[in-house]
Amino acid sequence: MDFGIKGRNALVCAASKGLGFGSALALAKEGVNVTITARGAETLEAAAKQIRAAAPGVTVKTVAGDITTEAGRAEALAAAGTIDILVNNAGGPPPGDFHDWGREEWVKAVDANMITPILLIKAVVDGMGERKFGRIVNITSSAVKAPIPVLGLSNGARSGLHGFVAGVSRQVAKTGVTINNLLPGRFLTDRLKGTIGAQSKKQGAELEAEFGKIAATIPAGRFGTAEEFGQVCAFMCSVQAAYMTGQNVLLDGGNYPGSF
Ligand code: NAP
Repeated sequence: MDFGIKGRNALVCAASKGLGFGSALALAKEGVNVTITARGAETLEAAAKQIRAAAPGVTVKTVAGDITTEAGRAEALAAAGTIDILVNNAGGPPPGDFHDWGREEWVKAVDANMITPILLIKAVVDGMGERKFGRIVNITSSAVKAPIPVLGLSNGARSGLHGFVAGVSRQVAKTGVTINNLLPGRFLTDRLKGTIGAQSKKQGAELEAEFGKIAATIPAGRFGTAEEFGQVCAFMCSVQAAYMTGQNVLLDGGNYPGSF
């Protein structure tokens, strides 16, 4: 299927690895010019090289910086130019116990996982509307739908973003701009490997055995891949997905057990 977005320009935040990278790669393979960001310049350049090799003909720009800062966002927006597609992403807040989190921890989480995507949406949405086309996908977490106790900062901060998106997506729906959230369950990225690695070390368990044990609890019997995550993201940015807005799309191999 041709997604009809060849020649469009995308800003994909936090995209040198994992789900952001998977999304940038899938969009580039659809002929979309991508601007990718991350804090670490070296990994970011390696990611850009990989995308250029997989999608010759598209322009791949890189912006090294922290997307959760004012300066990082300004640089990313300036480099990307006219943005038709925005994929919001950033590192998730750390796990922990809510008894240990004070104002500082909460402000940091809300800043990164709620305010940052909101400010980026604000920066691009009117221009998209004037040009009668726009796609915004926020990478959030299945923890918004089924909260994970140790990820309280994520559960809370990301839910705030979902509330905002539910409203604003309807406000701009007539302008040809869609805004949706894409909620990953368990994807075998560096972040997940790190989390499982830390858990297994604590319990003195074998890492591979721990991976297998967790994968077996997922109805699909496996973790997701960044590649398949990116492909769903690209579909949500397609012309075919024009009537889909304000939605929370769960991609979790069937892990969430509810009917709705
Ligand atoms: P990952 O493999 O660790 O990749 C994170 C990417 O984001 C890297 O490119 C990283 O590069 C970049 N990044 C992190 N913080 C940034 C910042 N402040 N500014 C710019 N770039 C930044 O993580 P992932 O698994 O793809 O996760 C992506 C998001 O999905 C996270 O918010 C995570 O919590 C959420 N999520 C993931 C899963 C999963 O199973 N993987 C499940 C639920 C939710 P630098 O470090 O160089 O900046």
